Amino acid sequence: MARPIRARLDWSALRHNLNVVRRHVPGAKVWSVVKADAYGHGLLPAANALSDVTDGFTLIELEGAIALRDAGISQPILMLEGPYQPDELPLYGELELTPVLHTMWQVDALIEARLPIRLPVYLKLNTGMNRLGFNLDEFAAALARLAGANCIGSITLMTHFADADEARGIEQQLGRFRAMAGDRSLPVSMANSAALLRFPEAAGDWVRPGIMLYGASPFPAMQSAVALDLRPVMTLESELIAVRELAAGDAVGYGGSFVAERAMRIGVVACGYGDGYPRHAPTGTPVQIGGQRTRTLGRVSMDKICVDLGGLPPTVDVGDTVTLWGGEGDMYLAADDVATAAGTVAYELFCGLAARVPVIEVD
Ligand SMILES: *Cc1c(COP(=O)(O)O)cnc(C)c1O
Repeated sequence: MARPIRARLDWSALRHNLNVVRRHVPGAKVWSVVKADAYGHGLLPAANALSDVTDGFTLIELEGAIALRDAGISQPILMLEGPYQPDELPLYGELELTPVLHTMWQVDALIEARLPIRLPVYLKLNTGMNRLGFNLDEFAAALARLAGANCIGSITLMTHFADADEARGIEQQLGRFRAMAGDRSLPVSMANSAALLRFPEAAGDWVRPGIMLYGASPFPAMQSAVALDLRPVMTLESELIAVRELAAGDAVGYGGSFVAERAMRIGVVACGYGDGYPRHAPTGTPVQIGGQRTRTLGRVSMDKICVDLGGLPPTVDVGDTVTLWGGEGDMYLAADDVATAAGTVAYELFCGLAARVPVIEVD
């Protein structure tokens, strides 16, 4: 009856992946990064699944923090960009949110807000990413102002690595961070998924994994999700809704960008960019059907993708399940493989899951 596409969300996989984090950095506390609606997986169900195994949650969106507190989540919540306006600060106090302070007006506004509780704060240091964070001279001034204020709890130093998943690694930024932190012996938080997996020795007191919790590799060209023992949380699957025979010379889809060189059997899958499948995925992007890997053909439409059934058994037919990404056993297809073929990253695939796709949750 219903269109056969669905996203299956496996919360036991999310908890498993958090355990993988703990195996790599046993001494560190874990901020589970649930910004962007838990990377497209749904903030509240993801937070509920993690609430008894994580040490805290990390967000960008104030609405998300309100929703977590309304749902009874009592762990610390770290706000990665801090407040955007001074008038948000009373809410930081009420909800006991930990702000990341990356610029001086935030430091001054927090001190001037005279909140009735001592809020722990994160001070973000720019060590080479050059997006947010204090440089060396501003950092000393920010620290001095905070040290003199009485509405401030603990101060943690934080930075974010630009190349933790690249050949360059973290050495240079780590060196700058250590030089800036000096001998102040404040707690530190540095590592995202890539950094905690590759450089666990630099994990610091609190790690901030995002993508690995959702079961994708932060560096798929170096190590696959399977090699890292990560399990997919999101499975995007649909079915073949048509099967047809092409003759040599027949073109497929908009623009006819794929032309059959010889007679071939193709399938049509009920999934397109209107569901969040990447429109720029070229011919050859992997899909999993009948326990075998095959490929897309031609352009992705809003509602449909055409796939090559050439190498598959003739029993594969209308109604058969197609994994677009995720899945398990012989229907597993790494989101990283799809993302790489489409010139993007699994982060974007997950975040882009469209609202029209029905969600099935399994525990
Ligand atoms: C999003 C984000 C993370 C999580 O990064 P992953 O690559 O998903 O592990 C960690 N820290 C900061 C500052 C972030 O913005």
